[in-house]
Amino acid sequence: MTTTIRTRFAPSPTGALHLGNARTAALNWLYARKYKGTFVLRLEDTDIERNLQGDGSRPSGEELIIEALDWLGLHPDEAPSTGGPFGPYRQSERANHYANQAEQLLASGHAFRCYCSPEELDAHRKEAIAIGDPPGRDTKCRDRSPEEKTLTQAKGQPASIRLRVESGPVYFEDQLKGGLSIDGDDLGDMILVRSDGRATYNFAATVDDYEMKISHVIRGIGHLSNTPKQMLLYRAFGVQPPQFIHIPTVMASGGGKLSKRAGATSLLTYRDRGYHPDAVLNYLSLLSWSSKSGEEFFEREALIEEVDLDRIGATDTEIDEDKMAWLSGQHVRSEPATTLVDHWSAFLDHTNFNMNRDDLTRSAEVFAHRTRLFSDAQSELETIFGEPTLESEETQVILGTREAKIAIDQLHTTWQEVDWQAKTLGATARDAAENTTMSKGQFFSAIRIAMTGERKGPELGDIAYALGKERTLSRLKHALDKIHHNDGREII
Ligand code: GLU
Repeated sequence: MTTTIRTRFAPSPTGALHLGNARTAALNWLYARKYKGTFVLRLEDTDIERNLQGDGSRPSGEELIIEALDWLGLHPDEAPSTGGPFGPYRQSERANHYANQAEQLLASGHAFRCYCSPEELDAHRKEAIAIGDPPGRDTKCRDRSPEEKTLTQAKGQPASIRLRVESGPVYFEDQLKGGLSIDGDDLGDMILVRSDGRATYNFAATVDDYEMKISHVIRGIGHLSNTPKQMLLYRAFGVQPPQFIHIPTVMASGGGKLSKRAGATSLLTYRDRGYHPDAVLNYLSLLSWSSKSGEEFFEREALIEEVDLDRIGATDTEIDEDKMAWLSGQHVRSEPATTLVDHWSAFLDHTNFNMNRDDLTRSAEVFAHRTRLFSDAQSELETIFGEPTLESEETQVILGTREAKIAIDQLHTTWQEVDWQAKTLGATARDAAENTTMSKGQFFSAIRIAMTGERKGPELGDIAYALGKERTLSRLKHALDKIHHNDGREII
């Protein structure tokens, strides 16, 4: 039998996504894509006080989550905003689903109404502990006779709905950890619906996973202790549970919980700093699993192909921003120049230099490999495209020799005739270097200064290609004029 793969990402919209929960989203998305399944976004927003804003509107966390998923390209197939066959996808809009399922469990005898006040429950717990009974079992309300139940219900007293949990092993399987078991005595008669009518997390999540036909629950290891409780509910519903995959925790760099440092690690700060989104997706994915070949750089499609839940590591991992930046550089390099310019443009401040889209595209072709983040383009392009002043003493010394002037002049002549391609320009510059009495180092420095005002920098052919023919030749000519004027005497 083939299972239709349906995964879900179920965040509480209490704030921006951090790298840890984005990693959970990434794995769920990748797994669904790999098996041509469905990726569901469900918002677990039942914690009303925490989630509703002062004016009663939905929390901004929801928009931030969607913005972050969008940036990573993790588009859900079913979601609160787009809907789907098993909606609604906000828990706050699903109260009737929880009430219906609770009614069914009451009718089948799996659940019971509990009228005890918190004080009474506390007293029961103490009594149970004193006589060595399981403390979480409700002895009073679970065993009421049907007549008694009807009577109490008729009084309209507020009641919670609790699951009847018997002694004995509750077995469940985690795809990574294998079979695990806990005794029902240790779980107690768990509350499904509070006396104010609100469903508890475990009940709501299980009703949703069941009704939304989720096949794989991929989530943080922190939820492992919830799984036996959810297992009991699947038993009570009489349905097969989904596959559970609990993944290790992502820690902040240097240790510590990510959630505690939300500001520093919010996913969108990486966008704002200029990380390539595919690199962040690549990195988040590798925080969990490693490829057979040890390869680390994967483009989106390859990642989908390669991701393998059986190769998820068992230990917690720490964020390594340097590695993420390295991966960003790899993705920048493989981005077509025509789209890289759009990414770069979003980060460029043109105050100190002028360039049009063609200049940008040529620059992206030859300078992408010198950058890691999109924001790195600023300093790279500013150095090349900013007008060189040629005023410094060092510049005057280097350019002010007879040899430098001859070299610049010759290259100016040669480059008028060549095909304007980085390789050809580089090759003709190297040929020209052979034909001077200057050392290669001196030659390249002189030409680079003439073109950009800087001694060091990218390959000459790349600079000339990026600057374009007209600008390059005019800068060389300008340098020749400058030497002549500043020097005050005819050199040739
Ligand atoms: N809402 C839960 C959280 O944000 C996720 C629950 C789950 O994945 O089952 O941690």
